[in-house]
Amino acid sequence: PFAHVQQLPRDPVLGITEAFVADSSPRKVNLGVGVYLDENGHVPLLDCVQQAEEELLRRKGPHSYVPIDGIAAFDNAVASLIFSGERPSLDERLVTVQALGGTGALKLGADFLRTTNPSARIWISDPSWENHRALFSAAGFEVETYPYYRADGGLDFAGLIQTLSSLPSGDILLLHACCHNPTGLDLEPYQWAEIQALAAERGVIPFLDAAYLGFADGLDADRVAIDTFAQAGLPFLVSFSFSKSLSLYGERVGALAVVTGGAAERGPVLSQIKRIARTTYSSPPSHGGATVATILNEPGLTALWHDELALMRDRIKAMREGLAERLRVQVPDRDFSFITRQRGMFSYSGLSKEAVEMLRSRFSIYALDSGRICVAALNKANLDIVAEAIATVLRE
Ligand code: PMP
Repeated sequence: PFAHVQQLPRDPVLGITEAFVADSSPRKVNLGVGVYLDENGHVPLLDCVQQAEEELLRRKGPHSYVPIDGIAAFDNAVASLIFSGERPSLDERLVTVQALGGTGALKLGADFLRTTNPSARIWISDPSWENHRALFSAAGFEVETYPYYRADGGLDFAGLIQTLSSLPSGDILLLHACCHNPTGLDLEPYQWAEIQALAAERGVIPFLDAAYLGFADGLDADRVAIDTFAQAGLPFLVSFSFSKSLSLYGERVGALAVVTGGAAERGPVLSQIKRIARTTYSSPPSHGGATVATILNEPGLTALWHDELALMRDRIKAMREGLAERLRVQVPDRDFSFITRQRGMFSYSGLSKEAVEMLRSRFSIYALDSGRICVAALNKANLDIVAEAIATVLRE
């Protein structure tokens, strides 16, 4: 019965990791990863996570089912984390449900929007996280792109605004709340305000993907986009991920928040989202949700998390500076200041596909074909190796 099934191409990111693992060079470096690595090149186990997990173990709770929409203490704490000071004004029309990571939150949102706006198109940035297109296509949407990254490395705000100005009511605009993946280019506060006003005028539904909150300038500062939409009081969605900010990748912890149009919409919207969850995975996993709920509901653990998040953020910034400085010295005729201006885990390095290929074949340094490198995979031990290799490739 499966003779007609077509082979799909390999996931490009996973393909790079496979090639990296097979490479026997002692100097190999994998900059293609999408995770934060510590100074020793490891995915960290945060202290706040370990302490919360120890507390959960001590409690010896049963592994019962979690409610369809998630652990109440998780949903409540996450709503406060996402909306902070704006939460009281939104509360009566806010729906927050635990989801299977940021991907699961996007999928819940996509399936929900497909039922409410079946003829809508979704607009994602060009470029965007590669799973955005696939995920929304799989949910049945026509996926279009708006201009975002200019060939000169700048942000194409005019192009974005021009596209947004032409969208019909009901279309969905997917935006990266901060630390845009893959470019590292974020919008300025005044630009968020302009987008919010224009989306409101057009009746376009904003969907903010927040997978890296806290990685640019800190949780409060990184909320600028969410705050802008929250203050306007109009409907929008937020997908949230704890994969990076709590280094909980495999536990699949995230949330979908929907600011509905009013108190009367809250119940119906929640019921629709619960049905999607129920028919897809029934209920979310308990361990990650309980761990996050413990951290967010105990002030001592929350404070510890903020400190650990700051350490990750500062290490990434130090690596950006280290790379930019080394390249500036080694390739003086080129400007590398963009590396320190970009935000989050990634740098869109501007390396061509050929340059990326050469890095791989000659130096065993692995980056994505797009030139995206994970700055969080750099450390004191590999910074010189990477900078020298990139400089050599750029000089050729
Ligand atoms: N959105 C963006 C922009 C991402 O980069 C990622 C993860 N790389 C996700 C969503 C998905 O997050 P998760 O791993 O929690 O599913």
